[in-house]
Amino acid sequence: MHNENNMKKFILYIRKSSESADRQIMSLSAQESEMTRIAQRDDLNVVEIIRESHSAKTTGQRPEYNRMIKGIKSGKYNAILTWSPDRISRNAGDLAMIVDLMDAGKLECVQTYSQLFINEGTSKFMFQMLGSQAKLENDQKSENVKRGNREKLKHGDWINSASFGYLNDKATTKIVIDPERAPYVSQIFELYSTGLYSLQGISSLLFEKGLRTKGGNKVHTSQIHKIINKTFYYGVMESNGKFYQGNHEPLVSQKVFEQCQIISGNKSRPRAKTKGFTLSGFIKSEKCGCAITAELKKEKYIYYHCTNGKGICDQKSYNTNEKVLHDSIAKDMEKLTISPKMVDIVYKAKLEELEQTDSFHNHTLDTTRKALNSLSQNKSRLIDTFTAGDIDEDLYREKLTALDNKKVNLAKQIQEIEQNNPDPLATIELTYKRFKQGYTMSKRYSGASPDEKRIILSEALSNSTLLDRNMANIQYKSPYDVLARTPVNASFSQLLADRESNPDLRYQKPSSYR
Ligand SMILES: [Zn+2]
Repeated sequence: MHNENNMKKFILYIRKSSESADRQIMSLSAQESEMTRIAQRDDLNVVEIIRESHSAKTTGQRPEYNRMIKGIKSGKYNAILTWSPDRISRNAGDLAMIVDLMDAGKLECVQTYSQLFINEGTSKFMFQMLGSQAKLENDQKSENVKRGNREKLKHGDWINSASFGYLNDKATTKIVIDPERAPYVSQIFELYSTGLYSLQGISSLLFEKGLRTKGGNKVHTSQIHKIINKTFYYGVMESNGKFYQGNHEPLVSQKVFEQCQIISGNKSRPRAKTKGFTLSGFIKSEKCGCAITAELKKEKYIYYHCTNGKGICDQKSYNTNEKVLHDSIAKDMEKLTISPKMVDIVYKAKLEELEQTDSFHNHTLDTTRKALNSLSQNKSRLIDTFTAGDIDEDLYREKLTALDNKKVNLAKQIQEIEQNNPDPLATIELTYKRFKQGYTMSKRYSGASPDEKRIILSEALSNSTLLDRNMANIQYKSPYDVLARTPVNASFSQLLADRESNPDLRYQKPSSYR
């Protein structure tokens, strides 16, 4: 039964991220005991255990992780045992580093709770794709918050702290009128709409009448100016340039509000239009790192050049035709093409992994629920003992309180387990979708309108530069960077065929690695 696993020198790497809303319910000790169990079962030679409690959002912030990488480089270890790919990689830099170590022959494999990743094309690609999922999960979390906010706004509920003249009712989370200041806000509009008062005049007049900020100070003219321009006061909430009808009680009529707008001159003032050059903001000068600016020539040709903000660059006079840049980017995006079949395979593997981690998750939940049930039994036994006259009342009360405290704690634990587990399937679907998008990105980019191009660029491009009238460096955001690094060639499909004729070789559960 003993095999090559005995020769490998495993480092067991355990990490819990420090983000409070981490989806992982796994504490350090739970991960450790679970992975130790696997090491014993599969007879893995674990030479050291490393425990890390730092977050891995940005590279290089994990001292223990860096120690592990050093150890692998020096030959102290040549295999990693860890809970899942996202434990050792939460950003693109980490993913690339692990793969580099495999390429260099320093790292033989990464064994996780449910999968084995080895030094071979398909396996390395899978590792990177599953690793980028953590990043997507973070994206999705903030997307969920945004979606929740939009829903709230659509239902007429404000999402931020209350404006001057209103209060946040903590019990109902609604916006209610501040009885102390609301009448003054109404007066500000009334006074201003007459056209007889300056902002300064209103500020002084209301100070005399007793209007104060929460800190007890005079309400400044700049704040009065803000109030007069806030549609919130006649019932319309503005968020990110969009308007929503609010549920809160208005402090001014729309008619009076608009009268104020006319007086302040806002109505007739045209909005300054920013010239929207498609590539502005996405590329920098390779030579000096300054921003790139654009000019329209003969009313139809767009040229980009370095702004030479530091005054040290000769690229200011190098005018680059926009079309050349679009073509270069579209050409480079061909790198992102990935076999859809490949993505399908990883998707299925991830679903399998989910089934396993889910059963572990349910196990923890079950245990906690059982403990809670047995507490209830203990309680009824305690009551029996007391009513039978076997213990005195003081002791009974004391024991009862202890039981109740335990009960509250367990109920809290159950709630936490349930809360910290957002729908993992949704994230997998998202990963799947993003990777499939890579397949068509180059084509989509070529055919896209300028606005659509900007959307694609903001989703995919990062740190790209211009030099000598062309793109010097094109880089991609996660997870597209994974696709950019993955070779799309014949040997790749070869590897796929390999896998299908030899299904035992890859994605096996630890138990089958014998
Ligand atoms: Zn420059």
